Amino acid sequence: MRRPVLAVLLAAVCVAPAAGQTPPVAPHAVVGPVGIADARWTTGFWADRFETCRTATIPALAAVMEGTEHSQFLHNFRIAAGLADGKHRGPPWNDGDFYKWLEAAAAVYAVTKDAALDKQMDDAIAVVAKAQRADGYLHTPVLIANRNGDAGARPFADRLNFEMYNFGHLFTAACVHHRATGKKTLLGVAVKAADFLCGAFEHPTPELARNAVCPSHYTGTVELYRTTGDKKYLRLAVKLLDLRDAAAGGTDDNQDRVPFRKQTEAVGHAVRANYLYAGAADVCAETGDETLLDPLKKIWANVVTRKMYLTGACGALYDGASPDGSKDQKQIARVHQAYGRDYQLPNSTAHNETCAAVGNALWNWRMLQITGDAKYADVMEVTLSNAVLAGVSLDGKRFFYTNTLRQLDTMPVPLRWSRRREEWISCYCCPPNVARTVAQANAYAYGRSDRGVWVHLFGGSTLDTTLPDGRRVKLKQETDYPWDGRVKVTVESAPAGELSLFLRVPGWAEGATITVNGKPVTVTAGRYAEVRRTWAAGDAVELALPMKPRLVEANPLVEEIRNQVAVMRGPLVYCLESHDLPRGVGVQAVALPRDVKFAPRFDRNLLGGVAVLEGKAEVAADQPWGDELYREFKPPAPRPVDIKLIPYYAWANRGKSEMTVWMPLGR
Ligand SMILES: [Zn+2]
Repeated sequence: MRRPVLAVLLAAVCVAPAAGQTPPVAPHAVVGPVGIADARWTTGFWADRFETCRTATIPALAAVMEGTEHSQFLHNFRIAAGLADGKHRGPPWNDGDFYKWLEAAAAVYAVTKDAALDKQMDDAIAVVAKAQRADGYLHTPVLIANRNGDAGARPFADRLNFEMYNFGHLFTAACVHHRATGKKTLLGVAVKAADFLCGAFEHPTPELARNAVCPSHYTGTVELYRTTGDKKYLRLAVKLLDLRDAAAGGTDDNQDRVPFRKQTEAVGHAVRANYLYAGAADVCAETGDETLLDPLKKIWANVVTRKMYLTGACGALYDGASPDGSKDQKQIARVHQAYGRDYQLPNSTAHNETCAAVGNALWNWRMLQITGDAKYADVMEVTLSNAVLAGVSLDGKRFFYTNTLRQLDTMPVPLRWSRRREEWISCYCCPPNVARTVAQANAYAYGRSDRGVWVHLFGGSTLDTTLPDGRRVKLKQETDYPWDGRVKVTVESAPAGELSLFLRVPGWAEGATITVNGKPVTVTAGRYAEVRRTWAAGDAVELALPMKPRLVEANPLVEEIRNQVAVMRGPLVYCLESHDLPRGVGVQAVALPRDVKFAPRFDRNLLGGVAVLEGKAEVAADQPWGDELYREFKPPAPRPVDIKLIPYYAWANRGKSEMTVWMPLGR
């Protein structure tokens, strides 16, 4: 009888996280993460995605990254370690992309305990560790140049070398690997590298302080603090953010023209932006710094009410300018994959890098933890289910770099990136980023706090977790979501005393109901429903979400989609793909009647199993356009057409096609 008491006491006095364990709920967060393998998908939508990631994506990425056919990832580490001769090949951020693969593999291993994957990681980590310089520095372009006799190559000489990006992904991958395996092999490398950063940034020049491009190092450094319990890494993260502000005067492209604490809107390169916001949120969760939370909330509101696509995608423009329209023209600089102006959301030419969507999900995951506010979970879910999943093919092996919301055979302008998913992308940041995100969706599905357990995402799964006070909870979730709105959570093992179950009721779910052992409780859409009671094994909470298809319109200031609507069902955005239209009807010609009705039908044999939406639309008379820009309007004589919409994430899996998310309103 004494052992459980001792366990509770130990849990209460252990403030620093022990090796391999779940980090504590951050002191300034309402809800924290569950352990890396506490939640497991069992059946359904996310279980299928995890399985594809495990069986197809992880091996496909390994084949690219362990080989040298396309570029060099692991091989750059081999050369840097002196295990092979040669030059550095590939962009300078390839190290970081390899760490992302390691993170994905470790997250999968946490659940599967696959010995072969463990060995594959061990072998790669041994090479990475051997490549690391004695003082902890680790960045293969510089190390290889030094090894090949170029003594002039030195750390942090050019911020576009992406060293901080690489360091950040090393830290995150090392923490995940440690939590998954209990091993300290990669964690040791990360600690040495972080100690190098502590020294390198002790007395930084402004130029060094601005060396923060695509800043995954804020989240990574905070994660290293959470894993090791060593406060110097939290101090380093705080210092790096503060330095960034002190050295402002850079460019909006990199979000350092204006100090972060003075920013009120999302500007610049969308991946860099979202990584910065996620990192600032992590620091805020640990320190409670309100001067970080204030800009984060303002920027979030700007993104969600002005700059984000319906799918959760970010970064509208291939090439933008910022500050756009400034009276001081000398200030204006070019921005690659820009957030763009308020309400500037083109479809055919949307950039929407997959990494920006991943960054958006990671940022919202952190805002959710700080606040416990369901609106962040809603954006996280929409982003994961649409923008992130569209980044990878259903077979798990091909990837989009950019994510359009409309693709026509005739494009208004030529675009830099492929209009199809590819096995190889010369900028290979997105594939391992999708992999690590899908591999950890189980961890994003649940949360824990002093009051109890949180259900953020719905999917067939089990949870076996320990609350911050040491009490253990086991439950299972059964659902066919997002195809069906019924979610049943059954308590399998509950500790003594009262405990809350927080169930997210999405903002779109007006009319949702919840029953506890058959008795209804009060529900508000857009909030977590807190069910607090003393639980017994077998207690069941049933959530019923309304899954009626919804027509969505945009603020009229979004000029590109005036008089158009999109269709959503649950968290999923739907689209019209040319495969599902009669021959000779282009997606441009289809208009939705104002009273259109869609009937959902689950098709097991289509696109891995999806609910399609079937309805009657109209073909507006589509007199072909020639080369003219304008012509006299002649009222069309529409004719009916049966249409079938598919989930946006599943488009471009049946060969060449046209596709549109937004459709004009007909009669
Ligand atoms: Zn990317």
